[in-house]
Amino acid sequence: MLDKSRLRIAMQKSGRLSDESKKLLAQCGIKINLQEQRLVAFAENMPIDILRVRDDDIPGLVIDGVVDIGIVGENVLEEEVLDRQAEGQNPQYKKLRRLDFGGCRLSIAAPRDEKYEGLQSLEGKRIATTYPHLLRRYLSEKNISFKTCLLNGSVEVAPRAGLSDVICDLVSSGATLEANGLVEVQTIYQSKACLIQREGDISAEKQALIDKLMTRIQGVVQARESKYIMLHAPSAALEDVIALLPGAERPTILPLAGDQSRVAMHMVSSETLFWETMEQLKVLGASSILVLPIEKMME
Ligand code: ATP
Ligand code: MG
Repeated sequence: MLDKSRLRIAMQKSGRLSDESKKLLAQCGIKINLQEQRLVAFAENMPIDILRVRDDDIPGLVIDGVVDIGIVGENVLEEEVLDRQAEGQNPQYKKLRRLDFGGCRLSIAAPRDEKYEGLQSLEGKRIATTYPHLLRRYLSEKNISFKTCLLNGSVEVAPRAGLSDVICDLVSSGATLEANGLVEVQTIYQSKACLIQREGDISAEKQALIDKLMTRIQGVVQARESKYIMLHAPSAALEDVIALLPGAERPTILPLAGDQSRVAMHMVSSETLFWETMEQLKVLGASSILVLPIEKMME
């Protein structure tokens, strides 16, 4: 029996979001022993239970209040919400934040040899998809009527198998579409993984734990997006050097032993330093430029 006083987090058991979800929780300091076949895993060092389920079940578990928190793709979340609304329900949840993984887009793709002349070409067509509600929302705004062929997998083979004219499916690199002779013609939704919380009363202890996790997640995500930059630069060029580093806070300036004309600069930048910028820094007289990853940070 699950202990209701422990925070319950649902994540995908195996699939595109599971490794990153696992990594995020681990980087937040939650020690979990995830055994491959187990549905539930218990954290050793915090009152947290992890439920590992199919991603499609996560929005419903949060909306129905079975779990406190869920990590799920916005595409799956939004589709579930639209599905429930279509059934006359009023699904409620709180979106805590977007995450920095699971990026993909829901796109309409047509066979390469078929003539496509804008969205009007889709009028009356049969479209195979796992996301009928997101597709309907998009196309009805454009006043285009279509027929749906609902498939839960292998959507990309539907046109070749004669099941549909075009498809509407998730794309990240486009390689799967290409391999199936399809061309992406219209993006209808941009998605990332996100963190959601159930609505309704929650104990003060659980809420405090959620707040603590949110601060840690913020720290993990921010650290992943930031770099620690160290370099030596001529004192006279300091302002020009700083101007080249957008997203950097005011740098720490340190003297260099035995060199009055140059200083060492240390700074955190929220942007990756591209080779082009490093080359421009060099032109300004900078040297010993190091760009280091950051493991954790807290403001
Ligand atoms: P499950 O067995 O849990 O139902 P699934 O096969 O439905 O898994 P995955 O393919 O693992 O789902 O994708 C999970 C989520 O990962 C998607 O809903 C989407 O948010 C995200 N994602 C990121 N890139 C892609 C991609 N290229 N194709 C599909 N999903 C992607
Ligand atoms: Mg799924």
